[in-house]
Amino acid sequence: MAEFTIAFDKYYQEVSIDDAQKGQEFICCNCNQPMIPVQGQEREWHFRHKEVSSNCNHDQWLHKK
Ligand SMILES: [Zn+2]
Repeated sequence: MAEFTIAFDKYYQEVSIDDAQKGQEFICCNCNQPMIPVQGQEREWHFRHKEVSSNCNHDQWLHKK
């Protein structure tokens, strides 16, 4: 599964994980659920759903674009 590298901020502007600020909340551009940025040392930076969303498919959204 592809990592989520783009999400919306509270103004529904697209934000790249590289520009995401820690502690802020973001919104999944696919399922509109809250997301949090994961910017750790070990893994590639990505957004993660705050609560697990079983029917969110980021690939689908990317293909729509
Ligand atoms: Zn989602």
